[in-house]
Amino acid sequence: MAELLVGRDFFVKALKEMQILIEEQRDHLSKLDSEIGDGDHGINLSIGFREVVLKLESIEAENPDIAGLLKKVGMILLGKVGGSSGPLYGSFFIKAGDNVKGKYEVNFPEFCGMIVTGVKAIESRGKAVVRDKTMLDAFLPGVKVLDDELFGGKNEIEIFTDFVDAMKAGAESTIPLIAKKGRAMRLGERAVGHKDPGAESAWMLMEVFLKGLTEVAKGLTKATY
Ligand code: ADP
Ligand code: MG
Repeated sequence: MAELLVGRDFFVKALKEMQILIEEQRDHLSKLDSEIGDGDHGINLSIGFREVVLKLESIEAENPDIAGLLKKVGMILLGKVGGSSGPLYGSFFIKAGDNVKGKYEVNFPEFCGMIVTGVKAIESRGKAVVRDKTMLDAFLPGVKVLDDELFGGKNEIEIFTDFVDAMKAGAESTIPLIAKKGRAMRLGERAVGHKDPGAESAWMLMEVFLKGLTEVAKGLTKATY
């Protein structure tokens, strides 16, 4: 199989798909947030991703590299979303491209490295650690999978499926936790029994990348016949 490469258009398409996903999941995410927060997580992300998609064409017209594109996306999320998820996801996109500056196409290890860099930015912005009942309870087990499997025997899609599965399990793992960060902190014991909304949106957003990568990989297989 040829090497799996993703270009800027891959990210543009994924961002559009993320916006569609967020519209579909808006009420679900806000409902989770109404149980342990203020009920706006889905609305916050909907406002942010709508604005991103609205601006995508003009951003693309400036012909930025992948890092530049994602940085602009992150700035929009940071500026437009009122809730804490805006600056957190904003930081993810702003920093994701830091190690691939100048590139219009990245290979799979570089793509995974972008996610790892983005997650580090969420960590340094929010100062949360694992088991604080935040989106990091999904992201960090995912990053561990990437660290463990990236240069092992599995192919790209198997690795990224394991990544998303670990994130999904990580989101489930927030249910019995007491929150140590964010609004849910104020609830103390009452947060127990509820899934963290940011952990849920995190795996869902990363699953959009999985779908995109699967499409790219299918194209590669076909091309070899
Ligand atoms: P707000 O809490 O301001 O209403 P949202 O509802 O959009 O913002 O987002 C809430 C989510 O943000 C939480 O479910 C949690 O996953 C995430 N979050 C909050 N604080 C932090 C933090 N310090 N680090 C990481 N994630 C956090
Ligand atoms: Mg909220």
